[in-house]
Amino acid sequence: MKKITLKPKRDYSVRRHHPWIFSGAVLDGEAESGETVEVRSSDGECLGYGSYSPSSQIRVRMLVFGHRPVEIASLVRDRVFAAVARRSDFFVGGYTDAVRLINAESDLLPGVVVDFYAGWAVCQMTSAFADRYKDLIADAVMTAAPGCMGVSERLDVDVRAKEGLMVGSFAVLKGEEPPELIEIKEGDCKFLVDVRKGHKTGFYLDQREARAAVGALATNCEVLNCFSYTGGFGVFARANGAEKVTQVDISGDALALAKKNAELLGLCHINTDFVEADVFKFLRSCRDENRTFDLIVLDPPKFAESKSQVMKAARGYKDINLLAMKLLKPGGKLFTFSCSGAMTDDLFRKVVDSAASDAGIDFRITHWLSQGPDHPVSAAYPEGYYLKGLAGIVC
Ligand code: SAH
Repeated sequence: MKKITLKPKRDYSVRRHHPWIFSGAVLDGEAESGETVEVRSSDGECLGYGSYSPSSQIRVRMLVFGHRPVEIASLVRDRVFAAVARRSDFFVGGYTDAVRLINAESDLLPGVVVDFYAGWAVCQMTSAFADRYKDLIADAVMTAAPGCMGVSERLDVDVRAKEGLMVGSFAVLKGEEPPELIEIKEGDCKFLVDVRKGHKTGFYLDQREARAAVGALATNCEVLNCFSYTGGFGVFARANGAEKVTQVDISGDALALAKKNAELLGLCHINTDFVEADVFKFLRSCRDENRTFDLIVLDPPKFAESKSQVMKAARGYKDINLLAMKLLKPGGKLFTFSCSGAMTDDLFRKVVDSAASDAGIDFRITHWLSQGPDHPVSAAYPEGYYLKGLAGIVC
């Protein structure tokens, strides 16, 4: 096995079981894309084994810590089975048939994301390791996931280019080709998922718990769902007795699917408006027209891609939160999210505090929300934590 030697004093994070070794920490050693390498400290101690990425800033992704024999095929297979087994409650519970089966580094499979939609597994392979072993992973998923009919792969993920991996569209890895739209169930709602062109692998599974929280508070409310995508929060609100829902998104395609999702609920599309607009402008137009709402959801795309963009992102979050708070009726509720990993909890809370203060409202935080339990965060890998949400009420 090829060996990678770290520079002096650059072994600290590996010893703490952090899975990434950046190119700047490597003294010498090279290998092929996705090849397993032994990682050594500058004085020759074996620290563990990882997968080599020649084109990436993250040069090695650790798979095993400490000195022991590594048989890569059985390691990959065992980890896929273990990750699926950790989600067994989802399969028996019956609340949903859509779940993230593998959450990359936090399931000890670096760069491997696998989501499962009613029998169809969809992968995003974003590391050299994931790409090299994708057939093995697909085989294991097909066997491990109950009732799996096919495993396919999204090849249009931007980070694949950074890893030096081929970028394309969509490919079946194992089993059958999924239908154009897959119908999933979540609570009493149903959603259609476009696994070929939808965001991520097609649906925001990470917001499952937050959708339920919105549903629980939406009865009789007039709801504004900003950045609605295919309608998740709004459909949940309507299914739980919201009087009226306005779904706003800049993407006509997302709204077309949001409409179909509302129709799946029977009469749900009645009393739902679909507005194709820029949320920043739409909120201002609501202000100018003196419109008010009982419940507003703000779930924007990632405003900060990296730490350097955090302050600019904070201004964007502040802008929409301030505007939304001014549209809330007395006793109104706001659910506000940031999926920027670079935004800390603390900064996000400060942004919300400062928006409330500028809006002149007394805003009481009632919920601290985050990605659901099928998106675990390994304690050794804080980068896995990205989704933060706050909900509160105007007092
Ligand atoms: N809340 C959604 C996920 C939102 S993803 C859910 O739970 O499923 C972010 C969405 O914001 C995308 O659908 C994207 O089309 C939309 N978007 C991005 N910028 C926007 C803007 N300026 N105005 C309105 N929508 C925007």
